Amino acid sequence: MKCFGFLLAVCLLIAACGPKQLEPDAAMECSNCESWNSPQEPFRIYGNTWYVGTAGLSSILIETDSGLILIDGGLTQSAALIESNIRSAGFDPLQISAILVSHAHFDHAGGVAALQRLTRATVYTSVEGAKVLKSGELQSDDPQFLYGPANTSFPAIKNVVAIADREIVSIGGVDVTAVYTPGHTPGSTSWTWESCALDSCNDVVYADSLTAVSAQGYRFVDGPAANQLIESAGTISDLDCDILLSPHPFFFGMQDKLENRNDGNPFINNVGCMIYAEVALDWLQQRLQSEGG
Ligand SMILES: [Zn+2]
Repeated sequence: MKCFGFLLAVCLLIAACGPKQLEPDAAMECSNCESWNSPQEPFRIYGNTWYVGTAGLSSILIETDSGLILIDGGLTQSAALIESNIRSAGFDPLQISAILVSHAHFDHAGGVAALQRLTRATVYTSVEGAKVLKSGELQSDDPQFLYGPANTSFPAIKNVVAIADREIVSIGGVDVTAVYTPGHTPGSTSWTWESCALDSCNDVVYADSLTAVSAQGYRFVDGPAANQLIESAGTISDLDCDILLSPHPFFFGMQDKLENRNDGNPFINNVGCMIYAEVALDWLQQRLQSEGG
């Protein structure tokens, strides 16, 4: 792992979650899903931005002057927990007019169909991601495709709009920009917006997974995914980024940060995206070496 001295502690914190813990092993019936779906109390991250996900799968709620935006919907069985968290945080889920999706895997898109039915929101994701969301089935270019549909499919989603790279979803005065970051899936998308509190504003980045995780039989070295991950890590690293969020809360050290909230707001850390990208490249390098690349 490449770490700058003063960043070592943060690097170690993130690295503590090795690649094997990062995505479900679908072929083993998602041994992580039960713990990932444990309840998590919702909380305000900063300004207009709230965490309403489960303990291991992020869902983010953004307040606007005219309705709400939700990012990601966890597992199929997470939808009820997310709805309950939104209400506990003092919001009406029926005010959600847009649901944004990072990547079309069952652990982040599984709950979206139910949340879309509840809210009647429009669902936005990338062009490649939209194909998968509409069918609920992975396409053959996804590194996890070989797990098979029994292990990877999720409820198909209606009212999906494909959005271009750097296109903006604008709701109630909040502009959320889609940033294509393919590699973990062909359609992986990160999202960024500005969040203000009192007289201070911060750029929030919901950086999609950059992990080189696949079903057995897939080789990153043979396809475009490795180069995509390298490029996407550079994209994330270059974004204006004061607050890093991502589809799994342990990617951004959520629990540790929650425990240290008395001392300022630990979610504000303008090197978070850079470290996230470095760690991803390190994992990719290890993966390529294991493939003999
Ligand atoms: Zn995934």
